[in-house]
Amino acid sequence: MQESLVMDKENKLRELVKQKFDEYLTAHKCRKTPERYAILDLIYSDPKHFDMDSLYEAMTDRNFRVSRATLYNTMQLLLDCRLVLKHQFGQNLSFYERAYNNEVHHHLICTSCNKVVEYKDAELKTLIQNKKIKQFTPVYYNLYIFGICNICARNLKKQQSKSNKN
Ligand SMILES: [Zn+2]
Ligand SMILES: [Zn+2]
Repeated sequence: MQESLVMDKENKLRELVKQKFDEYLTAHKCRKTPERYAILDLIYSDPKHFDMDSLYEAMTDRNFRVSRATLYNTMQLLLDCRLVLKHQFGQNLSFYERAYNNEVHHHLICTSCNKVVEYKDAELKTLIQNKKIKQFTPVYYNLYIFGICNICARNLKKQQSKSNKN
């Protein structure tokens, strides 16, 4: 029961974003190719972060042949209509995630292995949302916390104890 409810919600979301994208493409006189909708649908079938390479691979896995150029220009459209969010976590580290109706969350980024983990903290969220800033109206924000993940910390410790023995 619970699971089918979640499925229902996900399917509704996929329908809704398809409509939004459709409206955007109409308003901006862009071509409505099946590839563009397929890319959107794939993105909304998984809430996780992704980069361009993994998206390209996932499309190929689904037997949807798209060129990288198509992927990049569709992505630009999705960013423009705010259905997708882009994160720049490091100099060469761009991640994307679906943006519509996404729950507010922050990101923990390991500077050693570049792993990105979603961090949900209700207290932090309320604090930031209720924050009044003088002569400024906040619209949206991103919070990235950089550090060392558990696995990297453990490996680092192992390396250190090894070099201590030698
Ligand atoms: Zn790490
Ligand atoms: Zn995220």
